[in-house]
Amino acid sequence: DLVPLRRALISVSDKEGLVDLGRALAARGVELLSTGGTARALREAGLGVVDVADVTGFPEMMDGRVKTLHPMVHGGLLALRDNPDHVAAMETHGIGAIDLLVVNLYPFEETVAAGAGYDDCIENIDIGGPAMIRAAAKNHAFVNVVVDTEDYAALLVELEKNDGATSLAFRRGLAQRAYARTAAYDAAVSTWMAGALGDTAPRRRAFAGTLAQTLRYGENPHQAAAFYVDGSDRPGVATAKQWQGKELSYNNINDTDAAFELVSEFLPADGPACAIIKHANPCGVARGETLEAAYRRAFDCDQTSAFGGIVALNMKLDAPTAAAICEIFTEVVIAPAADDAAKEIFAAKKNLRLLTTGGLANPAEPGLAVRQVSGGFLVQDRDNGRLRRDDLKVVTKRAPSDAEIADMMFAWTVAKHVKSNAIVYVQDGATVGVGAGQMSRVDSTRIAARKSMDMAEVLGLPAPLTKGSVVASDAFFPFADGLLAAAEAGATAVIQPGGSMRDDEVIAAADEAGLAMVFTGMRHFRH
Ligand code: 5GP
Repeated sequence: DLVPLRRALISVSDKEGLVDLGRALAARGVELLSTGGTARALREAGLGVVDVADVTGFPEMMDGRVKTLHPMVHGGLLALRDNPDHVAAMETHGIGAIDLLVVNLYPFEETVAAGAGYDDCIENIDIGGPAMIRAAAKNHAFVNVVVDTEDYAALLVELEKNDGATSLAFRRGLAQRAYARTAAYDAAVSTWMAGALGDTAPRRRAFAGTLAQTLRYGENPHQAAAFYVDGSDRPGVATAKQWQGKELSYNNINDTDAAFELVSEFLPADGPACAIIKHANPCGVARGETLEAAYRRAFDCDQTSAFGGIVALNMKLDAPTAAAICEIFTEVVIAPAADDAAKEIFAAKKNLRLLTTGGLANPAEPGLAVRQVSGGFLVQDRDNGRLRRDDLKVVTKRAPSDAEIADMMFAWTVAKHVKSNAIVYVQDGATVGVGAGQMSRVDSTRIAARKSMDMAEVLGLPAPLTKGSVVASDAFFPFADGLLAAAEAGATAVIQPGGSMRDDEVIAAADEAGLAMVFTGMRHFRH
């Protein structure tokens, strides 16, 4: 199954490594065919090249839209060399076999990421490139197809090993990667178009990403893993700059994403805010007079869990905050920016990863959330639901005070980012108890209160901070028991969606306990 390599067609937008590859192929006596810009670059390096236009008998035309779309090219890629009819057709029409195709496509993804206009994006949809890639990959029994500059070296190694030929196994691997590339390319076009049309609905959408990083392992060491990016320029873990520390792990990426999406809910104009995440759930979220205060208040919600956590900040990291973070072991810090003094403090902590994003993510932005299940994907709009003060409906005899409302809005925002069943107690712009991921709401309510009692002991407080707090529940209380547990912990006001069959019962219990309660009419399940 070794096929000698005699004739290659090279047509690349990204000219990196091109000349070296051309030279190595020429040195093996491989004939080189090329399109306009690629041929020019090879010629400038002193290599002999045949223009595709001379092979097709047609000039490149229509701004390059039609260059290689011709039987002289596609026949040379698709002909089965062991099929007499195919060979006869090649002879009749003077079609020469092409044994190697090297193509990288018009930079569509980069053009979109650079914010180009509609027409510019359209012009950057490569047509001839994918057509050739798919043809060559289909005919991998005879043809090699390279779509990534990173594969040039492997090709040369293979040729060296087989004295100028390649094995079927090698060509199959190339073909598989080639189809992954064209699939991702068309998915990028489709996704961009949906965005340009304002169609954010999870319908008729192709999914694909570009491999950004092979991870050491997945959630557990026996799971292989990789990180794919979708080309979006949304500030976040996928686009952040890493200043120091080891490569991010699978769990780091997942948790850092959760941390940054949460802290992005808090606009810098409303003051500093900090979120600390463990296992994708917040173990402390707080506002503060300063960024350092916000961090310390978030930390005080659950100091035990914060150890080895991910810290996200809504403002430029400064030195006092950096120093405070260094007091315990932290895995990752992510912020819109970091000043030099803060970076200097972190430099001493070799294992701490610092990421900057250039800005906050927009929580109201539309987008899709994808989750895999056995045999398929679940796709939904990302939860970009946001509550305004006017949306609140007071359902109890007592109306909440302004201070309670401010804390309820804060608690509600945090609850959106806590795995269900989510219960969040907040006092004065800081979480004081978070109950996450329980199978019953009353358990979440009790666990959060229990944690607050533990922290009161650690901090030497006379009473847990749930006393006088407000409490948010991501979905309705199905029974009064959860609400009563919150009242017992000392909560004075409750924010929840409402909508239970037993709302009346729950409201009566709230009235009896002297609680103020508001309904949001919106739910924030998160599983
Ligand atoms: P060059 O820089 O050599 O002029 O152009 C290389 C690019 O043209 C490659 O990205 C290749 O995929 C693309 N290409 C090759 N043939 C065609 C074609 O027939 N139509 C279009 N639209 N692009 C082509």
